[in-house]
Amino acid sequence: MELPTELKAQLAEQKKQCIFCKIISKQTPANIIFEDSKTLALLDIYPAVKGHTLYLLKEHYPILPYLSEEELAHYFGVLPLLVKSIKSAVVATAFNIFIANGGAAGQNSPHLTIHLLPREEGDGFFNFLFHKKQKPLPEDKRKPLTPNIQYLMQKFQQENSLTINTSEYLPSYLEKPVKESLILYQDEKIIILLPPLSLAAGHIEIYSKLEEKNFEKLSSEDSIYLFHAASSIASLLFQLLQLHGTNIILKSGYTDDNKEGKLSLHIIPRMQNDSLQSLIWTPQQPKYKIESIAEKIKDKTWNLKYHPKKKEQKTDKNSPQNKEEKTEPKEPAEKKETKEWSKEETKSSFSTFKEEITHAISKLQK
Ligand SMILES: [Zn+2]
Repeated sequence: MELPTELKAQLAEQKKQCIFCKIISKQTPANIIFEDSKTLALLDIYPAVKGHTLYLLKEHYPILPYLSEEELAHYFGVLPLLVKSIKSAVVATAFNIFIANGGAAGQNSPHLTIHLLPREEGDGFFNFLFHKKQKPLPEDKRKPLTPNIQYLMQKFQQENSLTINTSEYLPSYLEKPVKESLILYQDEKIIILLPPLSLAAGHIEIYSKLEEKNFEKLSSEDSIYLFHAASSIASLLFQLLQLHGTNIILKSGYTDDNKEGKLSLHIIPRMQNDSLQSLIWTPQQPKYKIESIAEKIKDKTWNLKYHPKKKEQKTDKNSPQNKEEKTEPKEPAEKKETKEWSKEETKSSFSTFKEEITHAISKLQK
């Protein structure tokens, strides 16, 4: 989206202090393992696991909703290719992807960061061992989820001219997770579930119907679709549940905290000082040379190139897609009063939909 002038000025101020912007402009050295026109990846100097990578957009944005569709598509389109390279370079058998939206969720830099964590059985990393103890959402909070998710998914499909069929087909590997959960949405690619027990009330899970275990086997388009769903659900939960932040955690492959090795994406509601602090690892000096790991990964990423699919032009006004009416949510989320956003909040908290943000910022400008 076109960001308002006030916000652009704020971001420009943030950029001056931002360590990642200095790395991107090569003012500060780092172990860069991948770079293309829009993104850059470097090794964390305090890795949680060997090969722990920080994956950045070159443009400075604090949170996902500020990204344009094109940036979002590039960022998540590269992801499966990058994960594949890192995984093979460090000989990992599994993988986590971690995003913190907001300070309460462990975001410690105003420059949006995706953490890439190569994993294996017995690696001693237990921060994502989920103890699901929380009961699901009460009915009044749960009810608006289905129509809103449906609306967000269809909006994305229409805006990107995607033809994705509705489907209740369930691959056998999904029978167990689906059995006790409430199905919030499904199509031929993904299924979105509200599990009976969760990490926090409102914890939502997304599974792929195309791939059982390994994220990197998904195509770029399917990665974009999966993460677009996760990102818009995170925004929806933030608004509906008045959260302080959200985590998006992807699990892929067999580890001690993912005993069946299934590919799953978790959107986890966060509040300031909640009981989920252990999701965040403590920074530690590595016991090995980061430079040598960087060299190994660069051997795999040097020829990594992502070619985004060109968006189809909607020229035929009589195509069935254009004829279809936009589905409005049947029970729209209760309209909350738009709160005034302080500068502090814009810096540190995750926000709601793009429209809401634009509205809030236009208020800020007055
Ligand atoms: Zn920055």
